[in-house]
Amino acid sequence: MNLYSLTAHELNELFKAKRAKPQEAIDSLNSRIEEVEGKVKAYVRVNHRSQIDVKGVPVTITDNICTENLFTECCSKILEGFKPPYDATVIRKLKDAGTTIFDLKTNMDEFAFGSSTENSCFGPTRNPWNTSCVPGGSSGGSAACVAADEAIWALGSDTGGSIRQPASFCGVVGLKPTYGRVSRYGLIAFASSLDQIGPITKDVEDSALLTNIISGFDPMDSTSANIPVPDYTKSLGIDIKGIKIGIPKEYFVQGLDPEVKILAHEAIAKLKSLGADYKEVSLPHTEYAVPVYYIIATAEASSNLARFDGVQYGFRTKGKIQNLIEMYKETRGEGFGEEAKRRIILGTFALSHGYYDAYYLRALKVRTLIKQDFDKVFKEFDCIVTPTSPTTAFKISEKAEDPLEMYLSDIYTISANLAGIPAISIPCGFTKDNLPVGLQILAKPFAEEKLFTVAHAYEQNAGWYKIKPKL
Ligand code: GLN
Repeated sequence: MNLYSLTAHELNELFKAKRAKPQEAIDSLNSRIEEVEGKVKAYVRVNHRSQIDVKGVPVTITDNICTENLFTECCSKILEGFKPPYDATVIRKLKDAGTTIFDLKTNMDEFAFGSSTENSCFGPTRNPWNTSCVPGGSSGGSAACVAADEAIWALGSDTGGSIRQPASFCGVVGLKPTYGRVSRYGLIAFASSLDQIGPITKDVEDSALLTNIISGFDPMDSTSANIPVPDYTKSLGIDIKGIKIGIPKEYFVQGLDPEVKILAHEAIAKLKSLGADYKEVSLPHTEYAVPVYYIIATAEASSNLARFDGVQYGFRTKGKIQNLIEMYKETRGEGFGEEAKRRIILGTFALSHGYYDAYYLRALKVRTLIKQDFDKVFKEFDCIVTPTSPTTAFKISEKAEDPLEMYLSDIYTISANLAGIPAISIPCGFTKDNLPVGLQILAKPFAEEKLFTVAHAYEQNAGWYKIKPKL
């Protein structure tokens, strides 16, 4: 048996029964990384290994979550060499829970800007199911390493879909918790009103276990919610008879890949056969989600990125400079990649005098309408089911030159961030080309339990999680 191929709950059972030791799990992962990482490139700085405290199940972290003394560079040149002097709250919680923080961090789009992991200063990650395709993004490295058995489980961040969309593209489970459920302290901010950290795992049980560990109130994050955290593993193995599911008609329209559509409908039929009731519903403001998101997210990003000035962190220009302003300009010009610059410019424009009311303020108003659409549906339904993404993984460089095309790949995931609600992506089958397809389940704020119940019932019945990519 290869320890690397196990889930966290399976590995933990072995540790408890003294049939395996934590160091053996690390050794097993390292041998797997040696074997397949050359093809996948899920990790960054693979030649810079660090000493780690090996205790329990190893957990892998994306490059935008602060880990004490381990590189945390958001896959951006501007954070080159940055090793935080502190741990993010989620890391502290993971250490307190007895897990091992794996020393290698995973690849991502620079500052989580993207849907393909191509916007990384370290180069792209490849999809383990087809290495000429992207793994999705921005947490593509985390999804790819879990799918390729180069990690047991992982954390990613989700601002507009960056956990769920790569989970869908790589055939694994990805959860974006309710806004405020998980502390953002130590997550390097992209868009503070949208960002959430969440688990990427091989199955739903691990997703519940990891959510148990990382959730909860944190005085270090003023947006963290002081609401008790239930034991999410208690939501598993429960009958879904009578559960009411809404199917939003706005998600099954032109632009949805026909194969994805069929697999989503088959999954809905399976949920019905397990006893759930479903009905078509409407989320009428869905068409505004992408434009609203790209105003709010870039506005917040332009403000959050102001701190990268060559003084406080990471990289500073080595060029000849005459004064402070030149130092800022050269550092930011050389340090940020193309997509980061595009977003700083867009966001600064949307917030500037004369445009603030026309764009930013209006976007905030439409955001409220989008949230109200969900509130209305959740008065009557327990959850909403949709495809996670309109397509399967696309080819590397297929959309890289067309930012608008890239932005549209998050059309089904963005609304959950705008509304602050939890959403999970689970595998629901494969296309003829053997690429995984993801099913998204959404619920009202702090109703993660419902997601786990429905996702687990489907997963155990459908069994897709047992199929692994051949590398
Ligand atoms: N793809 C979206 C974007 O580029 C979402 C990214 C994310 O969730 N971090 O902004």
